Amino acid sequence: DMQYPEWIWQNGTIKPWAEATTHVMSHALHYGSSVFEGIRSYDTPRGPAIFRLSDHNRRLFASARIYDMEIPYSLEQINAACREVLKKNALGKAYLRPVAWRGLGGFGLSAETPIDVAVAAWQMGAYLGDGVLEQGIDACVSSWQRMAPNTIPTGAKAGGNYLSGQLIAREARRLGFGEGIALASTGLLSEGAGENIFLVFDGTLHTTPVSAALLNGITRNSLITLARDAGIEVVERDMPREYLYLCDELFMCGTAAEVTPIRSVDGRQIGAGKAGPVTRKMQEMFFGLFDGSTPDKYGWLEPVDRT
Ligand code: PMP
Repeated sequence: DMQYPEWIWQNGTIKPWAEATTHVMSHALHYGSSVFEGIRSYDTPRGPAIFRLSDHNRRLFASARIYDMEIPYSLEQINAACREVLKKNALGKAYLRPVAWRGLGGFGLSAETPIDVAVAAWQMGAYLGDGVLEQGIDACVSSWQRMAPNTIPTGAKAGGNYLSGQLIAREARRLGFGEGIALASTGLLSEGAGENIFLVFDGTLHTTPVSAALLNGITRNSLITLARDAGIEVVERDMPREYLYLCDELFMCGTAAEVTPIRSVDGRQIGAGKAGPVTRKMQEMFFGLFDGSTPDKYGWLEPVDRT
């Protein structure tokens, strides 16, 4: 089971894990009013670095803005908290979780409560299980749809959105699948419970557009950039469910899932039933960022120890 790290950052100070608590009457616990990020750090040849730290925390502030939450720290302070938590816990390859939530201070839906902020970090391997990066997972299309765009905005990474993610992920696991892929309220493909999706047709990457009720993933954006730089064509487009059964290759991506091949959907084998050549190329370029074999052209690796 999970081994808890020793230290956590909460509201400006580093404290022991056990003391990083909130009140049971915090607004967020009752109403889902939190925003958060998931970020990975890696041990690179140039020392520990956080992948697109600033872009992730910019998205944290964007999510807060959507919900009128004023985070009482600057972007640079949250970035510094992330670096501090890694250093204090002596973590190299890890997963970081900044979270801001409506705290104790009112029980009405529109209550103006203080905004509490914390940053935790812990060791995490492959999110969808051991060996999945090599072997791929068996996915299914969920019986649950993603939120319609005029209900809960999927562009915000807010706690409440993950009720949808939990229904999709838990249904998939209950049925014996590695992960669920959801359709949007349009009936067209959206994304996984906590991952964006890419389909490969004739060597071209196809990914669902941000209008398809998905989170505008930073891994998705990184893969689009790496692919285009390598001369691989990328198309962002709406796609019907059956394209999952027709594509040559299929994979999921996200901070936690990294680049995870999908070997079957709804019991139907995709391609050769293992990571295809384009998926492997994307994995190689993505993981190459962390061992130095892919040049960090865009300054995505933000060092933990700044000199
Ligand atoms: N979609 C959802 C619903 C997610 O929770 C995540 C993980 N944050 C992603 C996509 C992938 O986003 P990212 O690459 O920024 O981690």
